[in-house]
Amino acid sequence: MSWIDSHCHLDFDVFSDSKSLMTDLEQAGCERVLVPAITAQYFQRVVSFQGTRPNMVDIALGLHPYFLESHVPEHLNQLEQWIQQASPVAIGEIGLDYMLDPNSYDSQLEYFLAQVSIAKNHALPIVVHCRKAHDVLLKHTKQLGFHSGGFIHGFSGSQQQAKKYLDSGFVVGLGGALTYERAKAMKRLVAYLPDDGFVLETDSPDMTPSFANGAINTPLNIPQIAGYIANYRKQSIEDIHKLSSESYHRIMQPS
Ligand SMILES: [Zn+2]
Repeated sequence: MSWIDSHCHLDFDVFSDSKSLMTDLEQAGCERVLVPAITAQYFQRVVSFQGTRPNMVDIALGLHPYFLESHVPEHLNQLEQWIQQASPVAIGEIGLDYMLDPNSYDSQLEYFLAQVSIAKNHALPIVVHCRKAHDVLLKHTKQLGFHSGGFIHGFSGSQQQAKKYLDSGFVVGLGGALTYERAKAMKRLVAYLPDDGFVLETDSPDMTPSFANGAINTPLNIPQIAGYIANYRKQSIEDIHKLSSESYHRIMQPS
């Protein structure tokens, strides 16, 4: 049974000692991982990481809203250059984070819009980080005429917001958050999503699932996360992997 982690930061320093991780992943059935950048300083390292396992690693390049203070407008030019050199499958991780200081909203939006325009020009999908700004984000991607879709990573919005994303060509990323007993609304959302509406993700090393008992989160947790989703959706784990992988390939590597 093969599977995909659609969002993990395996280039982070915390993984630099786990040399066998990619081999362990391959042996555990991992077909592919998507590693998104977070700032311009990470473009080079994400590209280098891909070079270690080109047939297992996809990359996305972008400027993450959480790290706004690291970004300067010149980084948008660097993004353009890296797209030419490195052929990422998507632009990301980009988005809007309205849990941060409201004084940052305008600047967050400028970087987001600039990067959606870049994605549009290259016909690339986007990998989205969004907290408390789903309606704003949808409105702007629509206004820009962006139609390449993407992943709404770590989604925890409402069913209605999920539906709007699906209608606009996005799918939602499901990960460790739904493994917690308290995640009642997430369980209902997971059951509600259509078969072609989600991808699996860990957001490693963040978003540690309940069963990991504080151990560092890695993509090796994907099959267990899929087990929870299978349970909520009354489908088999094989079905969950298959559906998620189909959505991944449909959006990231359209034929
Ligand atoms: Zn991330």
